[in-house]
Amino acid sequence: MIPPKFEYVAPDSLDDAIALLAEGGADAKALAGGHSLIPLMKARLAAPSLLVDLRKIDGLRSVESDNGGWRIGALTTHSQLQDRDEMGVLARAASLIADQQVRNRGTIGGSVAHGDPAADMPAVLLATDGEVTARGPDGERTIGATELFTDLFSTALSDDEILTEVSVPALEGWGWGYEKFSRRREDWAIVGACALVKASNGSCEDVRIALTNMGTTPLRASAAEDALRGQPLDAERIAAAAEQASEGTEPSGDLNATPDYKRHLARLLSRRALAQAAGID
Ligand SMILES: Cc1cc2nc3c(=O)[nH]c(=O)nc-3n(C[C@H](O)[C@H](O)[C@H](O)COP(=O)(O)OP(=O)(O)OC[C@H]3O[C@@H](n4cnc5c(N)ncnc54)[C@H](O)[C@@H]3O)c2cc1C
Repeated sequence: MIPPKFEYVAPDSLDDAIALLAEGGADAKALAGGHSLIPLMKARLAAPSLLVDLRKIDGLRSVESDNGGWRIGALTTHSQLQDRDEMGVLARAASLIADQQVRNRGTIGGSVAHGDPAADMPAVLLATDGEVTARGPDGERTIGATELFTDLFSTALSDDEILTEVSVPALEGWGWGYEKFSRRREDWAIVGACALVKASNGSCEDVRIALTNMGTTPLRASAAEDALRGQPLDAERIAAAAEQASEGTEPSGDLNATPDYKRHLARLLSRRALAQAAGID
């Protein structure tokens, strides 16, 4: 449980951090809350030779309302979000991450940059159609959630880019639900489902469902979305649509669940999340 030897720097500007990461190449890693990276290093599954700690950089911790949406600095911790009811599904998902100690250290930027399919925030970002801002030696760019998560623990961020902000658009008129199943309250999701529903005159005008831990990246449950869009919003239609939530998924089996059991959970949790989002609990 002792990580391999590494160099550590804590620059106080974003430009310096980017320069250090660019110099270090693939062997250098940004360090945020350290609650995913350090355990990986201790287990010797990652061995960066340089850690560039972001904690002294100003301006990465703000949470700002923006035309009804949210702009969240990358170093914002889960605990800074968990009690902000006005942030809806973001607050709900943050409150379900691990325990208070982890939420006090883990950051939204780290959670999204790490690309762990079992993490909760990536599915929320996908369902809300959010995006991230990243800065590297060539300047700043935004990356939409649909392009961000590329494979298991892989994202579209390059080694010398720092994720500076997570943005979520206004969700006026959308109901939301996030459901997560784990063996113990503070565990990672065996499966999770984030649902957003826009209702109009009792029918489903639009719907988005994103699944946690049902593949190598967070996934949209498109078949279930298509089945519900345009339909009256009642328990029967929601249950029928949710039956299609696992379509096209290829979850891996692990110590907690077989792929079939995960597919069962995806259907069940999607149904519950949709019912919450539609307000027909
Ligand atoms: C016991 C335990 C239980 C947990 N349970 C859950 C859970 O139920 N749900 C959940 O979602 N998460 C869970 N986590 C993970 C936690 O949410 C972490 O905070 C999160 O995954 C990573 O955030 P971090 O700030 O700790 O990132 P770090 O560990 O510091 O970094 C993770 C990775 O992201 C990169 N990175 C970090 N920040 C940036 C940035 N701004 N720009 C570019 N790259 C960056 C790092 O280089 C590294 O590769 C758990 C962690 C622990 C230890």
